[in-house]
Amino acid sequence: MLDRPTASELLRQVWGFDGFRPGQGEIVEAVADGRDVLAIMPTGGGKSLCFQLPALMREGVTVVISPLIALMRDQVRALREAGVAAGALTSGNTQEETDAVYEALSRGGLKLLYMAPERLAAGGTVNLLRRSGVTAIAVDEAHCVSQWGHDFRPDYLRIGDLKRALDVPLAAFTATADAETRAEIVTRLFEGRDPTTFLRGFDRPNIRLAFQPKDNPRKQLLNFVAARRGQSGIVYCASRARTETLADALEQAGHAAAAYHAGMEALHRRAVETRFQREDGLIVVATIAFGMGIDKPDIRWVLHADLPKSIEGYYQEIGRAGRDGDPAEALALYGPDDIRLRRTQIDEGLAEDARKAADHGRLNALLGLAEATGCRRRQLLGYFGEDLAADCGNCDLCASPPRLFDATQAVRKALSAMVRTGEWFGAGHLIDILTGNPTEKVRERGHDRLPTFGVGRELGKGQWQAIFRQMMGRDLCRPDPARHGALHLTEAAHPVLRGETPVTLRHDVTQREKPATVLRT
Ligand code: ADP
Ligand code: ZN
Repeated sequence: MLDRPTASELLRQVWGFDGFRPGQGEIVEAVADGRDVLAIMPTGGGKSLCFQLPALMREGVTVVISPLIALMRDQVRALREAGVAAGALTSGNTQEETDAVYEALSRGGLKLLYMAPERLAAGGTVNLLRRSGVTAIAVDEAHCVSQWGHDFRPDYLRIGDLKRALDVPLAAFTATADAETRAEIVTRLFEGRDPTTFLRGFDRPNIRLAFQPKDNPRKQLLNFVAARRGQSGIVYCASRARTETLADALEQAGHAAAAYHAGMEALHRRAVETRFQREDGLIVVATIAFGMGIDKPDIRWVLHADLPKSIEGYYQEIGRAGRDGDPAEALALYGPDDIRLRRTQIDEGLAEDARKAADHGRLNALLGLAEATGCRRRQLLGYFGEDLAADCGNCDLCASPPRLFDATQAVRKALSAMVRTGEWFGAGHLIDILTGNPTEKVRERGHDRLPTFGVGRELGKGQWQAIFRQMMGRDLCRPDPARHGALHLTEAAHPVLRGETPVTLRHDVTQREKPATVLRT
């Protein structure tokens, strides 16, 4: 038996790294041992090493399935430069490249073979792999196997068959860790037999987390930035137009700011990226198009001026702050308009119903984080399946725990106002009814004669707005896009309406609130 180099020797000799990142060592060991592995690591956590290094420790060839051709080519190039026998079979290959890969395979001269999933659909691929002495499969971006996810790749469904046909261990990697996706990966890639699962390294303890309900967002942004003059930061917006408006507002307030979105010319975008990398204290106001490939260690804060798209998106975007390990901040603003917009986008999309339901569920998870009543980091990491032993002490809710109140009666009143008006109206009109405000619209519809008229007088308009926002956040009611955002009850509302389920809400007092209307608890 030859004396094989150990994992840490290879790490030093081939990659030139001094040690493993958190989590990497255990994963490398399990994969090298030939166990079935599911590893959930955040983007940038260093997952490629976790299948590349074991491939060098094992006999035979490791097949790597990846959906991103450019990334595969980069990895193959880097491996070859480091002296590792690697090749790729993708649609981007020249005939010579493909011939060279076949040749290397036939004489047993490859350690890593990268392959696009489409290749699995081609006849003969399984036989080729069997003949070539494939002894392990690695699957990058394993969440692409999830039918209800955003990156679904039908050909990923063939990977389970490949594993069965070759009868070799499989290691799956992903940064998407919600419980459903994980369960789907286990079913489809591992035939339901639980693999050794690793979940590590999602916490970024130096980033302080905060959410705030929108209350004049432009002013909230300007206040935030004024207290952090000279720091580099990113403002994420939901639309291109908004990046321009907010960048202007920041410049007028005397900050160095630049807008960035996919509608801008490539040259102009590149210029903003370069400026941001080089300059200190520049604020980039961007859509989510900004960030990939930005590697600036000293971004001190990320502010979401609109509700992010999903928890995964939020996590990835705030993760760009504080890469140097120094204190950094993440603030996200959200309001009922964001919720309405996102629900509408889902409902009016072309997806199947099951997919829409999954998207609503994902949005609910994000809103749950926004409306959290306890340590935000615990909730965020909990979503990724990671347990924090104690509250973090570095989030807005740890710093000042929210006052909670039993909102069961208030919510029942709001729901019953919705029912009595045929679920035909939005929050503004319903609040007028609840607070007994006889507007023209209220009188015209005879809503001043409803039994619910004025039953919510004890609360101010601002408090009702906070209650409606939290009701939407808890998915007790949803705006109906076909009825201009009129609110209707969801299934979850019925037990509340019947008085069977109590509701505890946060007592938010927005800045516009007058002291006289502060809620009596
Ligand atoms: P991802 O998890 O997003 O696939 P990569 O595998 O591309 O991440 O790794 C991200 C970066 O971290 C790469 O630049 C890689 O070289 C670096 N890296 C990975 N492992 C280590 C390590 N043990 N020590 C130092 N750098 C590492
Ligand atoms: Zn906390």
